[in-house]
Amino acid sequence: MDAEKEEYFKSFTIETISFDSMYDNVHVVHPTLSIQDKNLPRQMVKKYVSASTYNEANYIEECNKYSNFSVKLYYKYLNGDLVKQKSCYLLIEYCEKGSLSNYLSTKSLITTVFQFINLGKTFHIMHEHNLFHRDIKPDNIFITKGNIYKIGDFDVSRKTSLELTNTTTVKGTPNFLPKKYREILESQESLSPKTLAYIDIFAFGKTLIKCFIGNDYENFYLQGQDLLNKIEKNIIQNNVFNVDHINNHESLNRNIKEFSKFLIFLVNEDVNELTYNFGDVANWLKKWLVEFLKYQQDYFCYICSCSILGHDIIIPCSGNCNHCFHLECIKSYLDCDTQCNMCPLCDAEGDIKDIREFFISY
Ligand SMILES: [Zn+2]
Ligand SMILES: [Zn+2]
Repeated sequence: MDAEKEEYFKSFTIETISFDSMYDNVHVVHPTLSIQDKNLPRQMVKKYVSASTYNEANYIEECNKYSNFSVKLYYKYLNGDLVKQKSCYLLIEYCEKGSLSNYLSTKSLITTVFQFINLGKTFHIMHEHNLFHRDIKPDNIFITKGNIYKIGDFDVSRKTSLELTNTTTVKGTPNFLPKKYREILESQESLSPKTLAYIDIFAFGKTLIKCFIGNDYENFYLQGQDLLNKIEKNIIQNNVFNVDHINNHESLNRNIKEFSKFLIFLVNEDVNELTYNFGDVANWLKKWLVEFLKYQQDYFCYICSCSILGHDIIIPCSGNCNHCFHLECIKSYLDCDTQCNMCPLCDAEGDIKDIREFFISY
């Protein structure tokens, strides 16, 4: 980017948004229509980084290359002088709805699982390229205006080489780490790529669990059967299920139990040799979701969990299923999953092609 544009960004940093204490140096910049690059959005987050953490830009860029379910990096600026460490910043995608930590226990089971399948697939691609996030938690999952969950905050991410057995040290957030790694947090102890993969999957499981049981202090320390019971209880309490077509709730309860057990499996503390990867996790969730869809009450958008009744425009994925989405939601989804040509929820062949064409003419 040229000097003129650089000056432009400096002068138009007009609104400060404090997401939380860690983010009080985040601004939203407002490019006007006079700007040359029409591809830049109206709002972006300006995140100041030190030269030593400037590497974050590389991880975001690489992740963006593989998946649109990661927050976009639009521009990186590094003041030439690495030693003085001043005015390095990134312009990244502004996710209007903030982080997932504001929405714990508020989304439906299906919406949560659907969004986490997309995240799981993205983490799988990252891991295949030896890129480990290392700080997966609700605060680092962001929600766009169109209600799509995206991976963000690559502060402590590391690219590692599979040829090396010991490559990097423990980083992250204690509550989202397996116990045995909490004690060596910030120490110089080295970890293998397999261990880093395990730590990411563990944190993903923990994050998913938080979506159902919330972030209360006491919930952090639930384990085993107590945790299982809590997850099941909260899912049943917070969701409206359609059980008209079955004789009793047994089959529904069995499915919820199966799901809860899987979450507990993900946060297993005693994994010595990882035998599964993020691809396996995403596939399990997808298979379970498709099976489970019949229990969910209809008439809400599966991408955002909100009612579709009374809305002006909804997009039914007509054809082989009747799943409906808000216009804004399905548009955002198709922007991210550019290969998608069937119902994103159940994979039934639908009118997605027509929907794409509709957006082009819209
Ligand atoms: Zn929606
Ligand atoms: Zn469908």
